[in-house]
Amino acid sequence: MLKKKNLVFLGPPGAGKGTIARILSDETGLTHISTGDIFRAEIKGGTELGKKAQEYVSSGGLVPDELVGDMVGSRLAKDDCADGFILDGFPRTLPQAEIFKNVLDKIGKKLDLVVYFKASDDVLLKRLTARIICKQCGLNFNKLFSPPKKDGVCDECGGELYQRADDSLETAKDRLEVYYKETSPLIDLYRGEGLLLEVDGEQDKMKTYPELLEALS
Ligand code: ADP
Ligand code: ZN
Repeated sequence: MLKKKNLVFLGPPGAGKGTIARILSDETGLTHISTGDIFRAEIKGGTELGKKAQEYVSSGGLVPDELVGDMVGSRLAKDDCADGFILDGFPRTLPQAEIFKNVLDKIGKKLDLVVYFKASDDVLLKRLTARIICKQCGLNFNKLFSPPKKDGVCDECGGELYQRADDSLETAKDRLEVYYKETSPLIDLYRGEGLLLEVDGEQDKMKTYPELLEALS
């Protein structure tokens, strides 16, 4: 069993949070909560929440804190989070960190570790703009660095691969800018609380994963 199991993954878009979160979740059973995935699903499903989130997500901006906070609050209270969770993409602003603290207090949970994935803009933009994702299972590929065996088709499930609209160069740049302005202050916040673990987001995921696992054990 893991010693640290209530986790936040922090870092710029394209640093590998989602990829490592999927592996860790598959291998250990921690529940992976990606706020970006939730918003994309809600938008696709045309729900009330999806309608509210749409304009922010498509422009690369942030969905308002309160909306995200409510969503995450009810998600964390579900049974499947009892044995641990990986929050991927939340909190993303200082007010969200405050909301998060209150949510945890309310449901009687404690944050064990914040894993910060560090990578340079150069690498991030290259990764984001070449990223392709399986429509069916959500697995990520990269046209340059980790292409699928067959063009446009997922190795894992045979699903169709697509590019996220917000992975265009222009919107990816905007998302990075939003990250530095709104999200990067959380690094110092959690470092100050002694909760931060920094990992190299540029190295191969097969190297990052065992390092992380050891830090959690
Ligand atoms: P990224 O690859 O940028 O990490 P995500 O899939 O995590 O992308 O998020 C996609 C979009 O969903 C964000 O650009 C933002 O519009 C919205 N979003 C996700 N999480 C949050 C959050 N915690 N607060 C506000 N908006 C969010
Ligand atoms: Zn797939």
